[in-house]
Amino acid sequence: MRSREACEALDAADPLAAVRDRFVLPDGEIYLDGNSLGVLGRSVAPRMAQVIEEEWGKGLIRSWNEAGWYSATRRVGATIARLIGAAADEVIVADSTSVNLFKVLMAALRLRPDRRKVLVAEGDFPTDLYIADGVARLMGVTFATFDPQMPEDAFDDQTAAVVLTEVNYKSGRIYDMAQITAAAHARGALAIFDLSHSAGVMEVALNKGQADFAIGCTYKYLNGGPGAPAYIFAASRHHAAMENPITGWFGHADPFRFSGDFAPATGMARMLSGTPPTLSLLALEEALKVFDGVDLAAVRAKSIGLTDLFIRLSDEVLTPLGFALASPRDAAVRGSQVSLTHEHGYAIMQALIARGITGDFRAPDIVRFGFVPLYVRYVDVFDCVMAMRDIMQTRAWDTDAFRTRKAVT
Ligand SMILES: *Cc1c(COP(=O)(O)O)cnc(C)c1O
Repeated sequence: MRSREACEALDAADPLAAVRDRFVLPDGEIYLDGNSLGVLGRSVAPRMAQVIEEEWGKGLIRSWNEAGWYSATRRVGATIARLIGAAADEVIVADSTSVNLFKVLMAALRLRPDRRKVLVAEGDFPTDLYIADGVARLMGVTFATFDPQMPEDAFDDQTAAVVLTEVNYKSGRIYDMAQITAAAHARGALAIFDLSHSAGVMEVALNKGQADFAIGCTYKYLNGGPGAPAYIFAASRHHAAMENPITGWFGHADPFRFSGDFAPATGMARMLSGTPPTLSLLALEEALKVFDGVDLAAVRAKSIGLTDLFIRLSDEVLTPLGFALASPRDAAVRGSQVSLTHEHGYAIMQALIARGITGDFRAPDIVRFGFVPLYVRYVDVFDCVMAMRDIMQTRAWDTDAFRTRKAVT
């Protein structure tokens, strides 16, 4: 088994070690839940004080022009584009991931008006399934799931669009974007990707993989803060024909003409609907600065290092205590999270959180750990596994307080 000293040596040699200082982490906190809510960037609070006191407090409505509020959806979209393999003008920030999926699915159905079916990968995050079901009922088409391991079996000439999360939220499995897209295109269908668990933690290659649309959230690996607005990607070949079903004034070609007729903006701006949540959007813009100068290949390499270490330690220390691995062993198809199953998973996670080590729980029996290479250290992985061993050996988890389910798990 690797020693704590060996982990310290890995941290000392880590090319990303200095990036940890760009974050505010409470003393002693071991945070393994950046896949649900990222850590606060150090420059965000001062920037928000300036936004609130100067831009809002003093600049008032003038700040829409003078402080660049109006162009922020496009500006921040362009910053995210670099992280997801898109061109700067193919990404815009708007609304939530759920609402954006609604918008791109509707757009896809209207680009394939003769087709009667939308498909979502089975086991995908529930909101993706719910939204597709809702869109299908609204449009009078069929909604079904498909097995992302064998997409060719499910796609046919009635399929308008397929939706897949590149990294599954429960297992952490990576699916091959280019392969799924090729299978969809071979049948004339459009491919939509949810990047909520991949953007910011690995290289995403939307244009290389020929993806049609993508959406994703910014409060996980992009550290935008609770409820930060999401983003939409559309390949430039669709910009002229795609329609946003929520035709609000921010998507109008000329919003400040106040015309009574809707005419869509050119490019990604047409995917906007109403006034963006500007405080959150500006917090996100500042938060994204932690990626300045950061090489995503180095992020991915450390992500593999951290998850490999966790799995190796867990095999030795936790498997004998009743845990089983629920994520791929093969790093090539594993994102930056590792899930373990245990029948007392909920109480065990609560006991761990009480010791200052935070992961999360996903029903029915998954304890899930997200390893964010920008701020998680190898020693954190070591300390987490040893704390879990102690919690099991002392049965510290076995109390009513730890068994009581909270509203957010
Ligand atoms: C987190 C997540 C979402 C979140 O959707 P919201 O609209 O922001 O609540 C959607 N899809 C996936 C795959 C996610 O992991």
